[in-house]
Amino acid sequence: MKARDLWQGAVKTLHDAKVPDARHDALALMAAVLHKKPLEVLADPEMVASEEQAAKYLAFVNRRALREPLQYILGSAFFMGFEFQVGPGVLIPRQDSETLCERAVKAAKTGGRALDLCCGSGCLGISLKLLRPDLEVALSDISDKALEVTEKNARRLGADVRLLQGDLFCPHQGQKYDLILSNPPYIAREEMESLDPEVRLEPELALLAGVDGLDFYRRILKGAGDHLNPGGILLLEIGSDQAEAVSALVKDGFSRPRIHFDLAGLPRVLETGLEGGVH
Ligand code: GLN
Repeated sequence: MKARDLWQGAVKTLHDAKVPDARHDALALMAAVLHKKPLEVLADPEMVASEEQAAKYLAFVNRRALREPLQYILGSAFFMGFEFQVGPGVLIPRQDSETLCERAVKAAKTGGRALDLCCGSGCLGISLKLLRPDLEVALSDISDKALEVTEKNARRLGADVRLLQGDLFCPHQGQKYDLILSNPPYIAREEMESLDPEVRLEPELALLAGVDGLDFYRRILKGAGDHLNPGGILLLEIGSDQAEAVSALVKDGFSRPRIHFDLAGLPRVLETGLEGGVH
């Protein structure tokens, strides 16, 4: 069967299911089934899918029509140019979070110790290690499932990092870092209802942060002082409407918060540090 006919039919199926990027997703799934690049599929109208490939494709399209995230179906997502394995139980890396990673790559002091707190798939800490091999990087998460995925990603991408399991700073007793970066859960309880169906299939553990979405910022800011070296830097991803609220939580002993913006021009990263640091 012609691949083109199949994926053009799928565009309609996905469109009818109100999938936001129907054309993109139909093509991405076809490329995955054929082990080709989307552009190769697009460029060759005569490309053929075997019966088995066609059946697999239709199963993928049906899952996507039920609003399962594209990356869970594909089994991977790109972040900072690296391919990370993802699956149910782990938050899908977002392009927005590259702002946090890029800032960490720039700000980390040479040969320093860095910590990715609430690491999920490991996309932040692993990318940081790959882009700044001089750093010693640790990653931790409360979820065993997430850490399994992190470990796989670190191995596949060849990143020599340390993994720890536990709630926030619990596995870091007595440890100090020069840079702590975190994309913690930051969705308020009320907001959970209004998330896209795809996001609601992602782990609540990675998203929900109490009544006002600020629980983890409170806890991280409370604990960070004990786990940063003098002059150490704290980088937090924030929701685009949280800059003011999180800034207000930054208390004595920390430098005045600085906000970094994502590619959509939205406030996305809050930077502070133990006083005495260079910012
Ligand atoms: N940025 C994510 C979203 O839009 C939220 C991630 C998080 O809570 N850390 O759903």
